[in-house]
Amino acid sequence: MKITDIYKTKNKKDKAVISLEIFPPKTDAGVETIYKTVAGLTHKPDFISVTYGAMGSATQENKTLKIAEKIKKDYGIETMHHLTSINNDPEEISKILSDIKAKNVNNILALRGDRPVGAEISKLPDDYHYAYELIEDIKKNGDFDVAAAIYPEGHVNSALEVENIEHVKRKYEAGANLFVSQLFFDNEKFLRLNDYIRHSGIEAPIAAGIMPVLQKSQIERMIFFGASLPTRLIKIVNKYKDSPDDLQKAGMEYACKQIDDLLARGVDGVHIYTMNKPFVANTMMEHYL
Ligand code: FAD
Repeated sequence: MKITDIYKTKNKKDKAVISLEIFPPKTDAGVETIYKTVAGLTHKPDFISVTYGAMGSATQENKTLKIAEKIKKDYGIETMHHLTSINNDPEEISKILSDIKAKNVNNILALRGDRPVGAEISKLPDDYHYAYELIEDIKKNGDFDVAAAIYPEGHVNSALEVENIEHVKRKYEAGANLFVSQLFFDNEKFLRLNDYIRHSGIEAPIAAGIMPVLQKSQIERMIFFGASLPTRLIKIVNKYKDSPDDLQKAGMEYACKQIDDLLARGVDGVHIYTMNKPFVANTMMEHYL
């Protein structure tokens, strides 16, 4: 099933689509934990997206595809395969798309990706510079539903502190029919972008990306994602900095409140970054469905 059909059906009933994001674990044991968690979810998400490693290529084993295929086939949950282009050439992308199609996965989150730190740039392909170019190639290569990323506080490489709507439009015109946001902790930032996108005439559904803060070290990585920290969240982290269990509980509560507010304000969808933590997936799904 196409993910945009899920959006059409649920949004028509004034309901938001709830999705989970996971990443392919390094070990087989980690992969088994994913399957066990998915099987054990008492409430299923509308779909699960599986991230794609920056250096993934047609010649490597595509763990993303293996996991996306199995979750769809064995657990009956629709999946979305993330795909990055910056480190691949069009021939490799075409091969990956054929593989994805052959495994009956119909949804792709098309991303530019990032150059790996320390990589010898001159040895990497230089065919794709922006995500819209990948979106164009995916649309040419088959009947996929294509999603794209948006950034409520601007992309970290951009001089602007807000998303450049022209870039979002370019992805929409190339064929993206769903947008999934970078994580954020201040709902007003997401809702402002949501409004800008709507006013620009883009009609595709927009999902809000939510990641619960579970530990203090996570906060340091937020700079990399470009997410600012509201005072309320900083206070929570400071209050429970020496008590990991309490911080985890408070972080989950903060994320749940963020989602409650977004749902009350009519967002199309919420995309939960689970960080492959079974309790995040379970707690969130029990709270929302
Ligand atoms: P683009 O949309 O191409 O944007 C890249 C930069 O170029 C931005 O600064 C943008 O402002 C600028 N830009 C865009 N279009 C134009 C234009 N036409 N002209 C000039 N400048 C332009 N990374 C992974 O490696 N694997 C994953 O699985 C993965 N999943 C993600 C999921 C989500 C929901 C999000 C938000 C990000 C994810 N990322 C993932 C990270 C992503 O690959 C990086 O943020 C990357 O730097 C940008 O990808 P993009 O598709 O947004 O690129």
